[in-house]
Amino acid sequence: MIIQSDPTLAAEVRRYGKFDINACLQCGSCTVTCDLTSDSTSFPRRTIQYVLMGLRRLLRGSLEPWLCYYCGDCSTACPRQTEPGESMMTFRRYLTAQYDWTGLSSKLYQSKVWEIGALLVVGAFITLLIWLFHGPLITDHVELNTFAPPEIVHLCDLILAGMLAFFLFSNAFRMYWFTMHPDSDAGVLDVMRGFKQDGFGYITYQGEKVRIPLSSFLAEARTLIVHAFTQKQFMSCKDNMGRWIKHWLLASGYVLMLFMVVVFLLWFQTDNIYPLYHPQRWLGYYATAVLIFGTVEILIGRIRKSEQIHKFSDFSDWLFPILLLLTVLSGILVHIFRYEGLPLATYYTYAIHLIIAGPMLVVEVPFGKWAHLLYRPLALYFNAVKESAIQNQLTKDEVQ
Ligand code: SF4
Ligand code: SF4
Repeated sequence: MIIQSDPTLAAEVRRYGKFDINACLQCGSCTVTCDLTSDSTSFPRRTIQYVLMGLRRLLRGSLEPWLCYYCGDCSTACPRQTEPGESMMTFRRYLTAQYDWTGLSSKLYQSKVWEIGALLVVGAFITLLIWLFHGPLITDHVELNTFAPPEIVHLCDLILAGMLAFFLFSNAFRMYWFTMHPDSDAGVLDVMRGFKQDGFGYITYQGEKVRIPLSSFLAEARTLIVHAFTQKQFMSCKDNMGRWIKHWLLASGYVLMLFMVVVFLLWFQTDNIYPLYHPQRWLGYYATAVLIFGTVEILIGRIRKSEQIHKFSDFSDWLFPILLLLTVLSGILVHIFRYEGLPLATYYTYAIHLIIAGPMLVVEVPFGKWAHLLYRPLALYFNAVKESAIQNQLTKDEVQ
Protein backbone atom coordinates (compact mmCIF):
# COMPACT_ATOMS: atom_id res chain seq x y z
CA MET A 1 0.00 0.00 0.00
CA ILE A 2 1.42 3.40 -0.97
CA ILE A 3 0.62 6.00 1.67
CA GLN A 4 0.64 9.54 0.35
CA SER A 5 1.37 12.49 2.55
CA ASP A 6 -0.70 15.64 2.11
CA PRO A 7 0.90 18.74 3.64
CA THR A 8 -2.41 20.63 3.55
CA LEU A 9 -4.16 18.21 5.95
CA ALA A 10 -3.19 19.88 9.24
CA ALA A 11 -4.38 23.30 8.05
CA GLU A 12 -7.64 21.74 6.85
CA VAL A 13 -8.23 19.95 10.16
CA ARG A 14 -7.62 23.20 12.05
CA ARG A 15 -10.68 24.70 10.39
CA TYR A 16 -12.77 22.32 12.53
CA GLY A 17 -11.49 23.50 15.90
CA LYS A 18 -8.40 23.63 18.04
CA PHE A 19 -5.32 21.75 16.89
CA ASP A 20 -1.85 22.96 17.78
CA ILE A 21 0.39 22.05 14.86
CA ASN A 22 3.79 23.11 16.16
CA ALA A 23 3.92 22.35 19.85
CA CYS A 24 3.70 18.53 20.03
CA LEU A 25 6.99 16.86 21.03
CA GLN A 26 5.70 13.34 20.33
CA CYS A 27 6.58 12.49 23.93
CA GLY A 28 3.61 10.11 24.26
CA SER A 29 2.58 11.27 27.76
CA CYS A 30 -0.97 11.77 26.51
CA THR A 31 -1.30 8.15 25.34
CA VAL A 32 0.27 6.77 28.52
CA THR A 33 -2.21 8.79 30.62
CA CYS A 34 -5.31 7.74 28.67
CA ASP A 35 -7.38 5.00 30.34
CA LEU A 36 -9.03 4.00 27.07
CA THR A 37 -6.02 3.05 24.98
CA SER A 38 -5.13 -0.59 24.37
CA ASP A 39 -2.44 -2.67 22.62
CA SER A 40 -3.90 -1.81 19.24
CA THR A 41 -5.33 1.66 19.87
CA SER A 42 -2.74 4.23 20.67
CA PHE A 43 -4.48 7.58 20.72
CA PRO A 44 -4.27 10.52 20.93
CA ARG A 45 -0.58 10.57 19.94
CA ARG A 46 -0.96 8.34 16.88
CA THR A 47 -3.97 10.25 15.57
CA ILE A 48 -2.06 13.51 16.06
CA GLN A 49 0.84 11.98 14.10
CA TYR A 50 -1.49 11.10 11.21
CA VAL A 51 -2.51 14.74 10.96
CA LEU A 52 0.98 16.17 11.39
CA MET A 53 2.34 13.79 8.73
CA GLY A 54 -0.52 14.58 6.35
CA LEU A 55 -1.81 10.97 6.28
CA ARG A 56 -5.27 11.91 5.11
CA ARG A 57 -6.59 8.44 4.31
CA LEU A 58 -5.26 6.91 7.52
CA LEU A 59 -6.98 9.65 9.51
CA ARG A 60 -10.22 9.12 7.61
CA GLY A 61 -9.96 5.37 8.19
CA SER A 62 -9.19 5.69 11.89
CA LEU A 63 -11.73 4.76 14.55
CA GLU A 64 -9.58 6.20 17.33
CA PRO A 65 -11.11 9.69 17.57
CA TRP A 66 -14.45 7.99 18.40
CA LEU A 67 -12.86 5.81 21.07
CA CYS A 68 -11.90 8.93 23.05
CA TYR A 69 -14.59 10.04 25.53
CA TYR A 70 -12.98 13.38 26.28
CA CYS A 71 -12.16 13.11 29.96
CA GLY A 72 -9.34 15.63 29.42
CA ASP A 73 -6.65 13.69 31.35
CA CYS A 74 -4.28 13.77 28.35
CA SER A 75 -4.60 17.55 28.12
CA THR A 76 -3.69 17.87 31.79
CA ALA A 77 -0.66 15.57 31.28
CA CYS A 78 0.65 17.25 28.12
CA PRO A 79 3.92 19.07 28.94
CA ARG A 80 3.43 21.43 25.99
CA GLN A 81 -0.22 22.33 26.72
CA THR A 82 -1.24 21.30 23.21
CA GLU A 83 -4.66 20.18 24.46
CA PRO A 84 -4.69 16.71 22.83
CA GLY A 85 -8.18 16.01 24.25
CA GLU A 86 -9.56 19.01 22.37
CA SER A 87 -7.61 17.93 19.26
CA MET A 88 -9.51 14.63 19.38
CA MET A 89 -12.74 16.64 19.50
CA THR A 90 -11.58 18.54 16.42
CA PHE A 91 -10.78 15.24 14.66
CA ARG A 92 -14.30 13.98 15.44
CA ARG A 93 -15.79 17.07 13.80
CA TYR A 94 -13.49 16.57 10.82
CA LEU A 95 -14.49 12.90 10.51
CA THR A 96 -18.20 13.73 10.81
CA ALA A 97 -17.70 16.03 7.82
CA GLN A 98 -15.80 13.30 5.92
CA TYR A 99 -18.57 10.75 6.44
CA ASP A 100 -21.25 13.19 5.26
CA TRP A 101 -21.63 12.72 1.49
CA THR A 102 -23.74 15.86 1.09
CA GLY A 103 -20.84 18.11 2.15
CA LEU A 104 -23.25 20.06 4.41
CA SER A 105 -21.56 18.99 7.61
CA SER A 106 -18.27 20.47 6.46
CA LYS A 107 -19.93 23.78 5.59
CA LEU A 108 -21.87 23.90 8.89
CA TYR A 109 -18.78 23.22 11.01
CA GLN A 110 -16.62 25.72 9.19
CA SER A 111 -19.02 28.62 8.81
CA LYS A 112 -21.38 30.27 11.31
CA VAL A 113 -23.14 31.90 8.37
CA TRP A 114 -23.88 28.49 6.85
CA GLU A 115 -25.05 27.05 10.17
CA ILE A 116 -27.37 29.94 11.02
CA GLY A 117 -28.47 30.19 7.38
CA ALA A 118 -29.39 26.47 7.28
CA LEU A 119 -31.41 26.81 10.49
CA LEU A 120 -33.21 29.89 9.12
CA VAL A 121 -34.02 28.23 5.79
CA VAL A 122 -35.50 25.13 7.46
CA GLY A 123 -37.31 27.37 9.99
CA ALA A 124 -38.80 29.45 7.13
CA PHE A 125 -39.93 26.28 5.36
CA ILE A 126 -41.68 25.00 8.51
CA THR A 127 -43.30 28.44 9.00
CA LEU A 128 -44.64 28.20 5.44
CA LEU A 129 -46.03 24.70 6.10
CA ILE A 130 -47.78 25.88 9.27
CA TRP A 131 -49.21 28.92 7.48
CA LEU A 132 -50.51 26.77 4.60
CA PHE A 133 -51.86 23.79 6.53
CA HIS A 134 -52.95 24.98 9.99
CA GLY A 135 -56.59 24.42 10.92
CA PRO A 136 -59.13 26.97 12.19
CA LEU A 137 -58.25 29.05 15.27
CA ILE A 138 -60.99 28.33 17.79
CA THR A 139 -60.80 31.13 20.32
CA ASP A 140 -63.47 30.43 22.95
CA HIS A 141 -61.51 27.41 24.27
CA VAL A 142 -58.28 25.57 23.46
CA GLU A 143 -58.43 23.03 20.63
CA LEU A 144 -54.83 22.39 19.72
CA ASN A 145 -55.74 19.37 17.62
CA THR A 146 -58.03 21.50 15.45
CA PHE A 147 -55.33 24.13 14.92
CA ALA A 148 -52.65 21.47 14.25
CA PRO A 149 -54.38 18.22 13.17
CA PRO A 150 -52.23 15.44 14.67
CA GLU A 151 -52.58 13.29 11.51
CA ILE A 152 -50.88 16.04 9.45
CA VAL A 153 -48.24 16.75 12.11
CA HIS A 154 -47.60 13.01 12.43
CA LEU A 155 -47.20 12.62 8.66
CA CYS A 156 -44.68 15.51 8.65
CA ASP A 157 -42.87 13.86 11.60
CA LEU A 158 -42.61 10.55 9.76
CA ILE A 159 -41.29 12.23 6.60
CA LEU A 160 -38.77 14.12 8.75
CA ALA A 161 -37.73 10.95 10.60
CA GLY A 162 -37.31 9.11 7.27
CA MET A 163 -35.08 11.89 5.95
CA LEU A 164 -32.99 11.96 9.13
CA ALA A 165 -32.58 8.18 9.10
CA PHE A 166 -31.61 8.23 5.42
CA PHE A 167 -28.88 10.84 5.89
CA LEU A 168 -27.65 9.41 9.18
CA PHE A 169 -27.43 5.78 8.02
CA SER A 170 -25.99 6.60 4.60
CA ASN A 171 -23.28 8.61 6.38
CA ALA A 172 -22.76 5.70 8.80
CA PHE A 173 -22.28 3.43 5.80
CA ARG A 174 -19.53 5.74 4.58
CA MET A 175 -17.95 5.50 8.03
CA TYR A 176 -17.97 1.71 7.67
CA TRP A 177 -16.51 1.99 4.17
CA PHE A 178 -13.64 4.27 5.22
CA THR A 179 -12.79 2.36 8.38
CA MET A 180 -13.52 -1.29 7.57
CA HIS A 181 -13.64 -1.97 3.85
CA PRO A 182 -10.57 -3.57 2.23
CA ASP A 183 -10.44 -0.81 -0.38
CA SER A 184 -10.00 1.78 2.35
CA ASP A 185 -6.72 2.75 3.94
CA ALA A 186 -7.95 1.88 7.39
CA GLY A 187 -4.78 -0.01 8.16
CA VAL A 188 -3.66 0.26 11.75
CA LEU A 189 -0.36 -1.39 12.38
CA ASP A 190 -0.21 -3.66 15.37
CA VAL A 191 3.44 -4.48 14.97
CA MET A 192 3.86 -6.42 18.21
CA ARG A 193 1.53 -9.15 17.02
CA GLY A 194 2.33 -8.96 13.31
CA PHE A 195 -1.13 -7.73 12.41
CA LYS A 196 -2.35 -5.07 10.11
CA GLN A 197 -6.05 -4.47 10.49
CA ASP A 198 -7.14 -3.45 7.07
CA GLY A 199 -10.74 -3.78 6.34
CA PHE A 200 -14.06 -5.53 6.39
CA GLY A 201 -13.66 -9.23 6.04
CA TYR A 202 -9.87 -9.24 6.29
CA ILE A 203 -6.93 -8.66 8.55
CA THR A 204 -3.38 -8.92 7.31
CA TYR A 205 -1.30 -11.18 9.51
CA GLN A 206 2.41 -11.48 8.84
CA GLY A 207 1.88 -10.48 5.21
CA GLU A 208 -1.04 -12.89 4.61
CA LYS A 209 -4.66 -11.78 4.24
CA VAL A 210 -6.84 -13.57 6.76
CA ARG A 211 -10.59 -13.43 6.43
CA ILE A 212 -12.57 -12.12 9.39
CA PRO A 213 -15.29 -14.71 9.97
CA LEU A 214 -18.91 -13.60 9.94
CA SER A 215 -19.12 -15.05 13.45
CA SER A 216 -16.89 -12.17 14.69
CA PHE A 217 -19.38 -9.66 13.32
CA LEU A 218 -22.30 -11.52 14.88
CA ALA A 219 -20.54 -12.21 18.18
CA GLU A 220 -19.74 -8.53 18.62
CA ALA A 221 -23.27 -7.29 17.74
CA ARG A 222 -23.84 -7.24 21.47
CA THR A 223 -21.11 -4.58 21.78
CA LEU A 224 -23.04 -2.33 19.44
CA ILE A 225 -26.33 -2.75 21.28
CA VAL A 226 -24.87 -2.42 24.78
CA HIS A 227 -22.86 0.71 23.96
CA ALA A 228 -25.68 2.33 21.99
CA PHE A 229 -28.08 1.98 24.93
CA THR A 230 -25.78 2.46 27.90
CA GLN A 231 -22.85 4.60 26.63
CA LYS A 232 -20.99 2.82 29.40
CA GLN A 233 -17.60 3.53 27.85
CA PHE A 234 -17.83 6.94 29.58
CA MET A 235 -17.24 5.12 32.86
CA SER A 236 -14.00 3.57 31.61
CA CYS A 237 -12.33 6.95 32.07
CA LYS A 238 -11.46 7.41 35.72
CA ASP A 239 -13.64 9.78 37.79
CA ASN A 240 -16.12 10.00 34.92
CA MET A 241 -19.17 8.44 36.58
CA GLY A 242 -20.89 11.81 37.12
CA ARG A 243 -20.42 12.77 33.51
CA TRP A 244 -21.76 9.42 32.34
CA ILE A 245 -24.93 9.84 34.44
CA LYS A 246 -25.53 13.36 33.10
CA HIS A 247 -24.87 12.32 29.51
CA TRP A 248 -27.10 9.25 29.77
CA LEU A 249 -29.96 11.23 31.33
CA LEU A 250 -29.77 13.88 28.61
CA ALA A 251 -29.66 11.27 25.84
CA SER A 252 -32.53 9.30 27.40
CA GLY A 253 -34.72 12.43 27.57
CA TYR A 254 -33.84 13.34 24.00
CA VAL A 255 -34.53 9.88 22.56
CA LEU A 256 -37.71 9.48 24.62
CA MET A 257 -39.07 12.83 23.41
CA LEU A 258 -38.14 11.99 19.82
CA PHE A 259 -39.97 8.67 20.11
CA MET A 260 -43.09 10.19 21.66
CA VAL A 261 -43.26 12.88 19.00
CA VAL A 262 -42.37 10.77 15.94
CA VAL A 263 -43.88 7.36 16.75
CA PHE A 264 -46.58 8.07 19.33
CA LEU A 265 -47.69 11.60 18.41
CA LEU A 266 -51.39 10.66 18.16
CA TRP A 267 -51.16 9.49 21.78
CA PHE A 268 -48.89 12.32 22.97
CA GLN A 269 -50.56 15.36 21.33
CA THR A 270 -54.09 15.34 22.64
CA ASP A 271 -56.66 17.83 23.87
CA ASN A 272 -57.57 15.48 26.72
CA ILE A 273 -56.20 16.47 30.12
CA TYR A 274 -54.96 13.25 31.68
CA PRO A 275 -54.46 12.68 35.43
CA LEU A 276 -50.93 13.12 36.77
CA TYR A 277 -50.25 9.38 37.05
CA HIS A 278 -51.00 8.80 33.35
CA PRO A 279 -47.83 7.76 31.42
CA GLN A 280 -48.44 10.47 28.80
CA ARG A 281 -47.83 13.05 31.54
CA TRP A 282 -45.05 11.55 33.62
CA LEU A 283 -43.03 10.40 30.60
CA GLY A 284 -43.34 13.93 29.20
CA TYR A 285 -42.33 15.44 32.57
CA TYR A 286 -39.34 13.07 32.88
CA ALA A 287 -38.06 13.97 29.40
CA THR A 288 -38.63 17.68 30.05
CA ALA A 289 -36.85 17.63 33.43
CA VAL A 290 -33.73 15.79 32.22
CA LEU A 291 -33.50 17.89 29.05
CA ILE A 292 -33.63 21.13 31.06
CA PHE A 293 -31.14 19.84 33.62
CA GLY A 294 -28.79 18.51 30.91
CA THR A 295 -28.80 21.56 28.65
CA VAL A 296 -28.53 24.11 31.48
CA GLU A 297 -25.69 22.11 33.04
CA ILE A 298 -23.82 22.07 29.70
CA LEU A 299 -24.33 25.80 29.15
CA ILE A 300 -23.21 26.72 32.68
CA GLY A 301 -20.16 24.46 32.27
CA ARG A 302 -19.26 26.17 28.99
CA ILE A 303 -19.65 29.63 30.55
CA ARG A 304 -17.56 28.76 33.60
CA LYS A 305 -14.95 26.69 31.70
CA SER A 306 -14.02 25.02 34.99
CA GLU A 307 -13.88 21.49 33.53
CA GLN A 308 -11.36 20.47 30.89
CA ILE A 309 -14.11 19.37 28.47
CA HIS A 310 -15.69 22.82 28.61
CA LYS A 311 -12.53 24.84 28.22
CA PHE A 312 -12.95 25.25 24.48
CA SER A 313 -16.31 25.68 22.83
CA ASP A 314 -16.94 25.66 19.13
CA PHE A 315 -19.96 27.61 17.85
CA SER A 316 -21.77 24.29 17.27
CA ASP A 317 -21.11 23.32 20.93
CA TRP A 318 -23.24 26.31 21.98
CA LEU A 319 -25.89 26.11 19.33
CA PHE A 320 -27.25 22.64 19.98
CA PRO A 321 -27.89 22.95 23.76
CA ILE A 322 -29.38 26.42 23.22
CA LEU A 323 -31.78 25.15 20.53
CA LEU A 324 -32.68 22.12 22.63
CA LEU A 325 -33.37 24.29 25.68
CA LEU A 326 -35.52 26.69 23.62
CA THR A 327 -37.46 23.72 22.21
CA VAL A 328 -38.15 22.39 25.70
CA LEU A 329 -39.07 25.82 27.14
CA SER A 330 -41.49 26.54 24.29
CA GLY A 331 -43.00 23.06 24.82
CA ILE A 332 -43.51 23.86 28.52
CA LEU A 333 -45.22 27.14 27.61
CA VAL A 334 -47.61 25.30 25.25
CA HIS A 335 -48.43 22.93 28.12
CA ILE A 336 -49.05 25.79 30.57
CA PHE A 337 -51.18 27.86 28.14
CA ARG A 338 -53.24 24.81 27.25
CA TYR A 339 -53.90 23.99 30.92
CA GLU A 340 -54.71 27.66 31.61
CA GLY A 341 -57.22 27.66 28.73
CA LEU A 342 -55.49 30.37 26.62
CA PRO A 343 -56.23 29.44 22.99
CA LEU A 344 -54.24 31.97 20.91
CA ALA A 345 -51.21 31.82 23.21
CA THR A 346 -51.29 28.00 22.91
CA TYR A 347 -51.48 28.00 19.09
CA TYR A 348 -48.79 30.64 18.51
CA THR A 349 -46.42 29.09 21.04
CA TYR A 350 -46.95 25.68 19.49
CA ALA A 351 -46.05 27.13 16.06
CA ILE A 352 -42.89 28.70 17.55
CA HIS A 353 -42.08 25.35 19.22
CA LEU A 354 -42.20 23.58 15.82
CA ILE A 355 -40.19 26.34 14.14
CA ILE A 356 -37.38 25.84 16.68
CA ALA A 357 -37.51 22.04 16.98
CA GLY A 358 -37.67 21.26 13.23
CA PRO A 359 -34.45 23.03 12.17
CA MET A 360 -32.62 21.69 15.24
CA LEU A 361 -33.48 18.11 14.23
CA VAL A 362 -32.89 18.54 10.50
CA VAL A 363 -29.57 20.37 10.83
CA GLU A 364 -27.99 19.02 14.01
CA VAL A 365 -28.91 15.33 14.07
CA PRO A 366 -27.52 13.97 10.79
CA PHE A 367 -24.93 16.68 10.07
CA GLY A 368 -23.87 17.95 13.47
CA LYS A 369 -22.85 17.01 16.94
CA TRP A 370 -25.59 14.50 17.69
CA ALA A 371 -24.50 12.15 14.94
CA HIS A 372 -21.91 10.94 17.47
CA LEU A 373 -24.70 9.03 19.25
CA LEU A 374 -24.48 6.64 16.30
CA TYR A 375 -20.79 6.93 15.37
CA ARG A 376 -19.42 6.18 18.84
CA PRO A 377 -21.09 2.77 19.38
CA LEU A 378 -20.39 1.89 15.74
CA ALA A 379 -16.69 2.65 16.23
CA LEU A 380 -16.57 0.50 19.37
CA TYR A 381 -18.30 -2.29 17.43
CA PHE A 382 -15.96 -2.17 14.43
CA ASN A 383 -12.96 -2.06 16.73
CA ALA A 384 -14.25 -5.05 18.73
CA VAL A 385 -14.77 -7.03 15.50
CA LYS A 386 -11.18 -6.43 14.44
CA GLU A 387 -9.86 -7.29 17.90
CA SER A 388 -11.91 -10.47 17.99
CA ALA A 389 -10.57 -11.52 14.57
CA ILE A 390 -7.00 -10.99 15.79
CA GLN A 391 -7.64 -13.09 18.91
CA ASN A 392 -9.18 -15.87 16.78
CA GLN A 393 -6.11 -15.93 14.55
CA LEU A 394 -3.72 -16.01 17.51
CA THR A 395 -5.67 -18.88 19.09
CA LYS A 396 -5.60 -20.78 15.79
CA ASP A 397 -1.85 -20.34 15.54
CA GLU A 398 -1.34 -21.61 19.10
CA VAL A 399 -3.39 -24.74 18.38
CA GLN A 400 -1.36 -25.42 15.23
S1 SF4 B 1 -9.51 13.04 26.45
FE1 SF4 B 1 -9.40 11.29 27.87
S2 SF4 B 1 -10.23 9.57 26.65
FE2 SF4 B 1 -9.68 11.19 25.20
S3 SF4 B 1 -7.63 10.72 24.54
FE3 SF4 B 1 -7.46 12.17 26.24
S4 SF4 B 1 -7.21 10.87 28.07
FE4 SF4 B 1 -7.99 9.56 26.41
S1 SF4 C 1 1.59 14.76 25.61
FE1 SF4 C 1 1.47 16.62 24.34
S2 SF4 C 1 3.52 16.88 23.49
FE2 SF4 C 1 3.41 14.77 24.26
S3 SF4 C 1 2.74 13.53 22.47
FE3 SF4 C 1 0.90 14.11 23.57
S4 SF4 C 1 0.20 16.00 22.58
FE4 SF4 C 1 2.36 15.71 21.99
